[in-house]
Amino acid sequence: MHDPYAHITLPAGTVLFEEGEPGAFAYLIVTGRIAIYLRREGAEVLIAVRGAGEIFGEMAILDSDPRSASARAIEECVLVPVSEDQIKHRLSQTDPILRLCLGVVMARYRETIALLRVQGPIAEIAPATIDLSDTARADFDATIATVVLERALRRALDRGEFELFLQPIVRLGSELLAGFEALIRWRHPERGLVPPMEFIPVAEASGLIVEITTWVVSEIGRIMPEIMLAALHNPAAADGPLFLSVNITGHDLARASFPEMIGEMLRTTGIAPETLKLEITESTLMRDPVGASDALTLCRQAGMGIAIDDFGTGYSSLSYLSTLPITTLKVDRAFVRAMLTDPCNRQIIKTILRLADEIGIPVVAEGIEEAAEAEALSEMGCAFGQGYFYGRPVPLSDTITLIKGWNAAGRAARRVAAA
Ligand code: C2E
Ligand code: CA
Ligand code: CA
Repeated sequence: MHDPYAHITLPAGTVLFEEGEPGAFAYLIVTGRIAIYLRREGAEVLIAVRGAGEIFGEMAILDSDPRSASARAIEECVLVPVSEDQIKHRLSQTDPILRLCLGVVMARYRETIALLRVQGPIAEIAPATIDLSDTARADFDATIATVVLERALRRALDRGEFELFLQPIVRLGSELLAGFEALIRWRHPERGLVPPMEFIPVAEASGLIVEITTWVVSEIGRIMPEIMLAALHNPAAADGPLFLSVNITGHDLARASFPEMIGEMLRTTGIAPETLKLEITESTLMRDPVGASDALTLCRQAGMGIAIDDFGTGYSSLSYLSTLPITTLKVDRAFVRAMLTDPCNRQIIKTILRLADEIGIPVVAEGIEEAAEAEALSEMGCAFGQGYFYGRPVPLSDTITLIKGWNAAGRAARRVAAA
């Protein structure tokens, strides 16, 4: 079934746009055929027919000029609109030479259309028939899915459908609470809770991630004081102020205004910068280490912590460890999951712990699901742990209940008994 917000159905004969109008959308054709035509001396000149698997209306967006021709549905059509933002963001990400080529092609195409307009009658152009191969069809379907998801994400932002869940991070050994990681969820009106891996990559590709992170940061400003307040109700839960970790991407760091945006949130809420940690994955860091460095340095100078997420999974040179102001390493869940059965993974964790020790920063082990893993990591000298064993990511209200009822001593005793 077509999503009525993402797909539009046009009855046969409908004019979608007219020559000379400004254009804000291009359209992917799911089914049906579209006639592209010019009006000349009261008559219509057909210049192309577009069918399923094609895009049309992209020209006005690519070169920001008015529509060069009109478009009408030849038969009933199902279309997926692609917004100006969606196209322009992608264009800005492409190679400058390709952008230049595209500009030239556009200009030539407009010249050709202008000639068609002034010359005498021309023979009707035969409608193209598109025969999509399986691969092309799969590509086209994937494009539609991405375009639809992007538009849905934009709507989700406008409608406030995102929510931050929180997962505890504890001190291994004492089992005192150390802080929480904020993990985004999308409360979709029909699909229910959508996990971030289903939409963060698309948000990154479309540039929407910047707005999502802006929302995340403002939400942190709302959540953090509530967490601090809950901790006051249970002084035995922690031995210092709790921190909050937030996931950010290379796209965020590439924006010059990022450190200021986050600093502004800290100033207006009065939250101590030391209680905020920025988590960035090794792989996004590797994509643009120089660009990320300036932003991370500014954030670190302001007092925030910087954690390398999924450490050990990227193909890194490790040289960034000496150049970037990193305060924490998070060992990827894959190593923790395999450590009890595979000596090699255990060795990798030991090596990471030694490395972190030498540069003087603590390690958080991710994905701890069993008492035996917690016990082994604690014995190996890992300072912090996170995983379902301590608690799954849950909404703020459940997190407040968790903090108020956290019994570190009791948990530690039970863990030792279970391991
Ligand atoms: P991550 O930053 O590595 O987050 C840890 C993920 O592991 C979370 O998945 C968490 O629910 C899951 N996890 C924690 N403990 C366990 C465990 O014991 N066992 C298992 N099987 N899984 C565990 P989640 O919440 O689905 O998030 C997935 C990824 O999405 C995150 O990986 C992060 O890269 C990204 N993400 C989440 N929230 C945000 C956000 O606000 N902004 C950005 N840019 N990315 C986010
Ligand atoms: Ca993370
Ligand atoms: Ca991680």
